[in-house]
Amino acid sequence: MPIPTELVGSLPRPEKLQNAYEDLDQGKITFEELQNLQDEAAKDSIERLEQTGETYLTDGEQRESSFATYPITDTLAGTGLADNLAGDGQFFAIFDDGHHRQLPRLTGGPFRYKTFASEFVQKNKEIATKPVKQAVISPSMMMLLYPLEEEIEGYPREQFLDDVCDEVEKDIRQCFDAGAERVSIDFTEGRLANKNDSRNPWTGKDMLQEFIDLNNRVIDRFSPEERRNMGIHTCPGGDNDSVHSKEVPYEKLLTKMFQLNVGYFLIQCASEEDKETVYKLVGENSRDDANGVPQVCFIGVINPLSPDVETAEEVRDRLVAAAKHIPVERLGATDDCGFSPFSRDLKPAHGSPDFARDVAMQKIANRVEGARMASEELGV
Ligand SMILES: [Zn+2]
Repeated sequence: MPIPTELVGSLPRPEKLQNAYEDLDQGKITFEELQNLQDEAAKDSIERLEQTGETYLTDGEQRESSFATYPITDTLAGTGLADNLAGDGQFFAIFDDGHHRQLPRLTGGPFRYKTFASEFVQKNKEIATKPVKQAVISPSMMMLLYPLEEEIEGYPREQFLDDVCDEVEKDIRQCFDAGAERVSIDFTEGRLANKNDSRNPWTGKDMLQEFIDLNNRVIDRFSPEERRNMGIHTCPGGDNDSVHSKEVPYEKLLTKMFQLNVGYFLIQCASEEDKETVYKLVGENSRDDANGVPQVCFIGVINPLSPDVETAEEVRDRLVAAAKHIPVERLGATDDCGFSPFSRDLKPAHGSPDFARDVAMQKIANRVEGARMASEELGV
């Protein structure tokens, strides 16, 4: 079988759409007007992705406030926040360029999603002529909505975590039921969990194993056949062309991450200086039998934070090098991250989000072609 390819999820939103999110916050437009622009950008994303030859199509998260907050708020500023949440939660991440992203804060129970990703799948299925994938958020990210130290009166942490697991399970199942062939779970907080950033207390609490165990509580509710098409995405962040945890030694995550009982991983690597070590760690730690499924390792061969377009030959060479350490039947090709996980992302290194959309399509097309060339060279 040729080396498979899959994108992580997001594409830059057109500047017009980004401004519309802010217009909604300021009461200048209605939610329906925002949705019309989201639908327009989603259709354009799907049609352009089809032209790149990408295996699975998405709307590039055009309808989502962010990869992490789509279930609980309509915009990053908190318009349309779900029940029992306030806007002033802990930092999720502080990025290298100094900007940060903040999560809402849980004020009471029960915790419930207001938007499920299957809504996007349904709409995308009507447009796409090829299989559709959907990225969803992890239980471990939702866990950070609960205060780090205190207990919420009347809503113990354990009860909250039970609710989180139920909501995430429902999110994933509904995506499959709506016709998604693949569902990948974003796990950017995995690398960040070992950062020990004093400005961001949760990163100093050694939570990685807790994250993995919580995520497996949900993953293990699915059959091997379902888990074959369930993935995990890891990265050191990707927002405003900046990262949040690239300096955290990758082995701290890669020696543990494959405990997650999913069938595939979308693994940042193109922006790593020492790619060989990553291939090696992935080869050594990934499993050919994770409770009934082999773990296919999609290596990041494209850096979405850089406007420089990788050539198909570069992609090919990276995959051929990776195949020295990872069994080729468990090797795939992906991008290091989504191209714009948050709805407001001006893509400063690119000059504009509209230009970054064009660049993303070129990069994806070259990844697809490079994977084809690598398959040919490796005889698969
Ligand atoms: Zn990512």
